[in-house]
Amino acid sequence: MTRLTLGLVAHDQKKDMMVEWASTRVADLARFLVYATGTTGSRIASALPQLEVIRLKSGPLGGDQQLGAMIAEGRIDALIFFVDPLSPHPHDVDVKALIRMATLADIPFACNRATAEAVLASLCAD
Ligand code: PGA
Repeated sequence: MTRLTLGLVAHDQKKDMMVEWASTRVADLARFLVYATGTTGSRIASALPQLEVIRLKSGPLGGDQQLGAMIAEGRIDALIFFVDPLSPHPHDVDVKALIRMATLADIPFACNRATAEAVLASLCAD
């Protein structure tokens, strides 16, 4: 059976939360092919070496655009993006484009932890 593909992204102020959340959900996350933007992926991989994480470029250097392109190509089944709504981001246009592609493609998309819990539970149910 083909594994579903999950994209993970966390803004800098949300990376600790992403690592902590991923550590509580590592068994569920292992059921997916996991792609992450560069720094988010490094943080998860060093905390959870048992979880295979495919790293894209760092978000500000194109990683968000890579994920958006993968969504456009139908290669990402769900996106979990811990957004920091209180800080400015130099790559804000890329963030908006990624959110737009997730919306356009109508994939399950969580932008905070509570919704990530709901999305992962839903995808893992059966
Ligand atoms: P990063 O990118 O994981 O490389 O920090 C995330 C982002 O878009 O800010």
